[in-house]
Amino acid sequence: MAARTMTLEVITPERVVFRDEVESIIVPGAEGLLGILPDHAPMVAVLKIGILTYRKNGEKRRVAVAGGFFEVADNHAIVLSDAAERAEEIDVLRARAAAERARRRLADRNANWDFERARAALHRALNRLRAAGVDTSDLQ
Ligand code: ATP
Repeated sequence: MAARTMTLEVITPERVVFRDEVESIIVPGAEGLLGILPDHAPMVAVLKIGILTYRKNGEKRRVAVAGGFFEVADNHAIVLSDAAERAEEIDVLRARAAAERARRRLADRNANWDFERARAALHRALNRLRAAGVDTSDLQ
């Protein structure tokens, strides 16, 4: 019989961010969004900074993911990431401060900032704000 749900685990070096049965998953694959339904064929993928969306009891929820790896097999999906936060646990003021700090560093052409690092920090912060449902148009 076809499975109706699969297990989703989102794990960082610090903690289990999420572990539950879900009905569908969309992950931010390096090459584009990947949609996963129960009974998906085994697969691994590299993730980019982005928003993972899952559906449970018909409701969609978001998790901010700072890149990493995705694997699905036998109705068990795992995300391994350096950092990930469920939308409701995102500290919006902290993410906004991080975005503004990174923007200042990127704009400061005279300084000796590591621009790649600042770009990545900006990307992570904007992603967290979007996952939390915050309008980021003033920070682009
Ligand atoms: P910051 O400069 O605010 O520390 P960062 O992008 O450098 O941001 P990371 O190195 O990606 O932070 O993450 C460090 C830890 O802090 C991780 O556990 C991550 O989940 C958590 N974290 C970072 N920003 C937030 C936030 N805005 N809300 C909740 N948790 C956060």
